[in-house]
Amino acid sequence: MKKRILFLISDTGGGHRAAAKAIDEAIHQLHPDTYETYIEDIWKDHTPWPVNKIPNAYPWMTGPGIPMWKLLWLISTTVQPHKVIFPGVSPVVERRIVRFFHQIQPHIIVSVHPLMNHIGVKLRNKAGMAHIPFVTTVTDMVSIHPAWICPDVTLCTVPTEPARQLAVEFGLSPERVIVTGQPVGLKFAAGPKDKAGLKRRLGLAANRPAALIVGGGEGFGPVYDIARAIAKTAHQGQMMVVAGRNAHLQQKLNQARWEIPTKIFGFVDNMPALMGAADMLVTKAGPGTISEAFIAHLPLIVSGYIPGQETGNVVYIQEHHAGRLAENPLEIARTVADWMKPNNPILSQMTQNAAALARPEAALTIAGRICDLI
Ligand code: UDP
Repeated sequence: MKKRILFLISDTGGGHRAAAKAIDEAIHQLHPDTYETYIEDIWKDHTPWPVNKIPNAYPWMTGPGIPMWKLLWLISTTVQPHKVIFPGVSPVVERRIVRFFHQIQPHIIVSVHPLMNHIGVKLRNKAGMAHIPFVTTVTDMVSIHPAWICPDVTLCTVPTEPARQLAVEFGLSPERVIVTGQPVGLKFAAGPKDKAGLKRRLGLAANRPAALIVGGGEGFGPVYDIARAIAKTAHQGQMMVVAGRNAHLQQKLNQARWEIPTKIFGFVDNMPALMGAADMLVTKAGPGTISEAFIAHLPLIVSGYIPGQETGNVVYIQEHHAGRLAENPLEIARTVADWMKPNNPILSQMTQNAAALARPEAALTIAGRICDLI
């Protein structure tokens, strides 16, 4: 009989599910037909109303509600309510999750969400499964929230060394935490290919520098204004603009007249090809996109970040000289134009620095450790 691996996530943003899927894919590649895997949004699908509706507030909180998010981050990192409130949340919630654990009978539990660790370990024990390993895979890159760290887990994987240091500071014993990099889909793992060929295949000019502009999976932030500013400023270049699932943005982009060669995309499933064709990336500071950019050897212009979990990402990129923060569309456009100047040593240096931060093997490493623990 196949052994069962249970991933605990919640769809607050797309990153937790994406990371779980990347590890899942790696598990099946390493050991085909060996494991049954379950990726469960515990919060939305296994808690009663109205608790199950709380994650729906996340897009608003990290968008228009950002001042409130900042306050919540500050309070929750200081008071650490996850240690008291969530584990004791309610007997009904507890009963449902324990029942679900009994139904799956996992051989290992992997949490890929900051709020699934303390409660996950507690309810694993309550379900009479204290003997099965519990792994946390942290998906915030650098400035991790203390809720990620439960000292009782068997193993904790983190994307970067600064995140490891914080994990230890938050009470995890050093031998239980390993730096693996951020798990991203295996389609990224091959790394950069023939840039000129990829440009041609995407209908771009092989000899013009190309900027890729992305606002995460949801086409978040001032993507339109950034693209317009680049089109008016970076005359020597060309652009790919990804609207993601933001149909309104895609329509607006399609209706504009572009001063430089421009390709508009909706949600793409060939991001490695787009990154491979690009010479630089303009993006919000999402950990998935940043880690994929490192693997594609792409220097970054970070156009915005969520205060708290993404603050450290910007610091990390700038400290390693793999890119810079520029939040104003005109400033972004001027940086793009500057980086596109022929033989600009800044661009080649940043490209090398981005490449040095690449961890294409992260998902496979984590998958290997999970399977070893079963
Ligand atoms: N992405 C994609 N197609 C798109 C836009 C984005 O596959 O059209 C992927 C991108 O490659 C990355 C993820 O969506 O893997 C976005 O994750 P990130 O952590 O950067 O940001 P989030 O959207 O989760 O805030």
